[in-house]
Parts: sequence; C-alpha cells; structure tokens
Amino acid sequence: MTDIELKTQSGDSVIHCGEGAFSAYAHGHASRGVFIVTDANVFSLYSDLIRKTFGEKAPIKILPAGETSKSTRYLLEIIQAMLEADMKRGCTVIAIGGGVVGDIAGLAASLYMRGVNLVQIPTTLLSQVDSSVGGKTAVDFKNVKNLIGTFYQPVEVIADPLFLETLPPREIRCGLGEIIKYGALNAEIYSKLKNAEDLTNPHFLADVITDCIRHKAEVVARDEHDLNGIRKTLNLGHTTGHALELYYGRKSHGEFVLIGMYYELYIAHSYGVCKGNYYENLISLITRVLKKIPVYEDMEKALTNAVHDKKNPDGKISVIVPGIEGKSAEILLDFNEYVSLLTECGNVLKEAYGKS
Ligand code: NAD
Repeated sequence: MTDIELKTQSGDSVIHCGEGAFSAYAHGHASRGVFIVTDANVFSLYSDLIRKTFGEKAPIKILPAGETSKSTRYLLEIIQAMLEADMKRGCTVIAIGGGVVGDIAGLAASLYMRGVNLVQIPTTLLSQVDSSVGGKTAVDFKNVKNLIGTFYQPVEVIADPLFLETLPPREIRCGLGEIIKYGALNAEIYSKLKNAEDLTNPHFLADVITDCIRHKAEVVARDEHDLNGIRKTLNLGHTTGHALELYYGRKSHGEFVLIGMYYELYIAHSYGVCKGNYYENLISLITRVLKKIPVYEDMEKALTNAVHDKKNPDGKISVIVPGIEGKSAEILLDFNEYVSLLTECGNVLKEAYGKS
C-alpha cells in the first residue's frame, strides 16, 4: 500500500492506494457522523462490506447507476437526505462508486453547510486513476456536462484494486483509456505499458494505478484550478474524444479517449511532433485495447463540438498531443485544418480496413 500526499491551496488530500488500502481505512476510520453516497450497482455488490464497515444504521443515499444521476435533482436529494439524517458540519460524506458517484457526492459535500469532509472510495478503474483525485466535482445541467461544479479536495481517497474484481471488461477498457493517456504523458508509465504482456492483469493494474495517481497528484499540486496550462495536459485525447462522445455516444468515455488519442496522434505525426518508434508504440498500445478504431462519416458535424471546448484559446482548437517520451505539446489548429486532418486519418483507416 502506498500513501500519496497532495497539497493544494484549498486543502490537502492523502491518497491511500494499493491492495489493503480499504481494510486499513475500515479499521481506522471514525464510524460516527458519516453519510454514504453510492449507486445501485455498487450497493448490490458491496452492501455487506459497506454495512460491516460503516454500521447497519449509517445513513446512505443510493443513486440509480449511470450518468443521468449526475443531475441537480439527485444533488438536492442527497442534500435533503443529509438534512433528514441530521448531519452536522463535522460530518463526513463517503462517496463509494465510480466517477458519477464521486462527482455528485463531492459537489454535495462542498455545498452542505458550506462544506463538510469528503472521502472518496473509487470503485471503477477510471475513478481510481482519474476522477477521485484532484478535487473536481460536478453535475450535468441542461445537457451540458459538468456545468455546475466546484473544486473541493477530499481529505482522503482510498483506491483499492479489490473493487475492480467485479468490474465488467468494458469498464476496464474505459479505465485503460485514461491509463494510456498517462503513459503518453509520463515516461515511466509508458515504459511499464509498453512492456506489459497483459494490460488487464490485476497485479499489473494495481501497480500502474499508483503511478497514474502519483502523476495526477503532481500535476494538480502545481495547477489545482486549471489555470496555468499544467493541468490542461491531462486533457490529452479529450478534445476529439469528447467531441465524438457528445455526437455519437454509445461507447464509454474511456473508449472515446482512446479514439481521440488515436486521431490526435495523426495530427501530432503530421506536424512532426510525435514520430518514429514512439509514435508506432503509442498507436499499438491504443489498438491493443480497442481493436478497431471507428471511422466516422459525419466528422465535420461531430467536431463542431470541439469548438465550444472551454479550454480553447482565441477560436482555435487546442489539441494536447504526445511529443517525445514523457512530454506533451499543444497544437493549435483552425477548425478547417482540424477537420481536414482528422478526415484524412479516417480515410487512411478506411483504406487499411478495405485491405484487411
Ligand atoms: P460510473 O460511475 O458511471 O461507473 C460505471 C459503471 O460501473 C456504473 O454502472 C457503475 O454502477 C458500475 N460500477 C462501479 N463500480 C463497480 C464495481 N466495483 N463493480 C462493478 N460495477 C461497478 O462511470 P465512471 O467511468 O467511473 O466515471 C465517469 C464519470 O466520471 C463521468 O461522469 C465523468 O464526467 C466523470 N469524470 C470526472 C473527473 C473528475 O476529475 N472529477 C475525471 C474524469 C471523469
């Protein structure tokens, strides 16, 4: 088990990661004054563990599973349930679940009585390597993702691979999307991924999760509020991935991150920013997880979603791409050039699929 400290202007977090992190936490935590937020899937799998750890009578809000729960309706329901359970300012909200539970419970914790303690217990691969660390909380509103949110650091994060045993393969793929993103930003993670025989091996994942969390914590410590460009590097693969996700849906967020990375690598390669073996290896890492990269017919329409990305400066599309090992670069493109390069990438893929 490894403890990683994250110190920020607004508060400090300790992230306990690795095998045994949950049982160590379960033995040491105060059982009074906790309010649990989870979702129906997680509760059906882990109700015994939750009840045994926090007590039969610990108040709990169980949300329906899925992104649609990340709404103002459920945010207010959590706050109302906390009030009914007579939660005081010194209470602790415990978020047990994936990124959806973590984001909404984090927001509720930041708002209730102007802020109460928050502990994140992420149970998906994506939430362990990404969303539970760094203090971004949110709900979606009027079809805009993460429109209402705060920066609010959890006092503790417990990232234990124990929970990953019940994750369906698709959710593992989703988390691997973010892990490969970290590989494109961090030379040590890249080398582990490149040499891994099986990217889904539980021992391999347990080890690499800690590396990803360490990377994210270092980035957040230097740019908590996403202001100086450092945290923006975590957006690698997301400009295009997110635009395609908004337009096409159906696949998971992490799968779109992989697709976004694949297409954006084409841009990086065309610009000569990412090349040679490094480029080839990153492409092959992506295709080890996602066997077939989709080709989209409505590329131009789908990519208009990238224009509205809040991270774009001066009407240009900002794309964060891998440069040399362990370093990323930002490429700024006019919309037309962006569409034309990605259409070209789609045509290359189509031709390759035609031959195979
Ligand atoms: P999720 O929370 O919807 O979980 C995915 C599915 O897995 C759900 O059906 C859930 O019930 C189920 N599940 C959770 N744990 C399980 C377990 N141990 N075993 C079996 N099933 C389990 O999705 P996610 O991918 O974890 O998170 C996506 C969300 O995270 C999005 O809303 C996204 O916006 C957000 N996010 C936030 C940040 C951030 O910095 N705050 C970063 C990235 C993503």
